[in-house]
Amino acid sequence: MVGSKKKFDIIIEGGTLLTMVDGEEPMHNVRVIISGGRIEEISARQDSPIPETNEVINAEDAIILPGLINTHGHSAMTIFRGIADDLPLKKWLYDHIFPAEAKYLNPDTVYWASLLACLEMIASGTTTFVDGYFFAGETIRATDKAGMRALVAQGVLDFPAPGVPDPKKNLDVAFEFLEKWINFSDLITPGIFCHSPLTCSAGTLLKAHEISNRFRLPLQIHLSETQEEVTEIKKRTGLRPVFYLDDLGLLNSRLIAAHAIYLNEEEIDLLAKRHVKIAHCPESNMKLGLSIPPVVEMLEKGITVGLGTDGCASNNNLDLFGEMDTTSKLAKIANLDPTLLDARTVLKMATVGGAKVIGLENRVGTIEPGKKADIIIVDTNTPHMTPIYNPYSQLVYSATGGDVRDVIINGEIVLRERQFTTLDSDDIISEVKSLSRSIGT
Ligand SMILES: [Zn+2]
Repeated sequence: MVGSKKKFDIIIEGGTLLTMVDGEEPMHNVRVIISGGRIEEISARQDSPIPETNEVINAEDAIILPGLINTHGHSAMTIFRGIADDLPLKKWLYDHIFPAEAKYLNPDTVYWASLLACLEMIASGTTTFVDGYFFAGETIRATDKAGMRALVAQGVLDFPAPGVPDPKKNLDVAFEFLEKWINFSDLITPGIFCHSPLTCSAGTLLKAHEISNRFRLPLQIHLSETQEEVTEIKKRTGLRPVFYLDDLGLLNSRLIAAHAIYLNEEEIDLLAKRHVKIAHCPESNMKLGLSIPPVVEMLEKGITVGLGTDGCASNNNLDLFGEMDTTSKLAKIANLDPTLLDARTVLKMATVGGAKVIGLENRVGTIEPGKKADIIIVDTNTPHMTPIYNPYSQLVYSATGGDVRDVIINGEIVLRERQFTTLDSDDIISEVKSLSRSIGT
């Protein structure tokens, strides 16, 4: 038991707790004590008096669970939400997104659009996110202001890019970015994001890998996202993309591969053998009319798979509750088997699975004493959340991000009763609206 004289930071009282620890069942009418940014104690609430604390959150009629982890996205693409929809990936990317990025991305737009992404993610229960884009230092500034946890990477590709007009300097910029931000915050880790095996040469990939290794930081890449990528890489190298990256020595436990759609059996085996982490982005894949990744097979082979929204131009929101629902149903329809990827499995992917993807499983992803207090509270006192027989099912198949009522990151409340505490939502929304007026006209 904790000492009676100690004053705690936050105590969550009542409600159903899903710790997401393997083997632990839902706990009802609980008390969760938070102090110094960490989870101090979890106990049955009973009728004992509430210890001395700065704040009590009443969670009766609510579900308490670990904050969700978005393992793949491009936050500042909120500025391009809805700018070019219903198009095939190549046309969407080369005729619309790349030109819009070249014309409109600058430190200011990236900062404000990243703040908008943080607002949206906090409001829908995401506490940690993985990002890869341009002017990444601005995304770090926004993330820090929001009080969120993140892996924010500088984008690298072999074309002139926003903020990096000379592609020969792309890795110098990334290196300087890592040096500048590596010790900035306990909550934010910088990284490198290579756009894809098609848009980065072997030399660029090798150098990015070397730099990431030197800093012992994760490297991100879009991998096997289209059939065209597989065909083209095979034409250039004689190898399928996963074997090509392995040939370069890139496959290891710090590589985060987003999408991973077009994989054959040998590629899945190799990804498992090399402990590569996967960011599954079902809604983006569906919207771009791609295909269905072999998620069930990957999980069966022991690959760590997290969930990602991807950017807002291919989704078009950052709500991981939607991704969980889609992940489960997509696996069921793809295999014509309703028993696959049940709600609890999918919720694990969005929490502890995501934590493993970024190597933070010792800090976040579950609710247990000693871990960082990244916790969300979902309101269940609504028509679509009533009644509750299975809280996992309720969260995955009934809830939306809009049901999230309170969000705690690193022991700090960033959303209280649906009100932001770190960000001024009116100001951010108005600024992004104003920036958007010059875009797409
Ligand atoms: Zn992406």
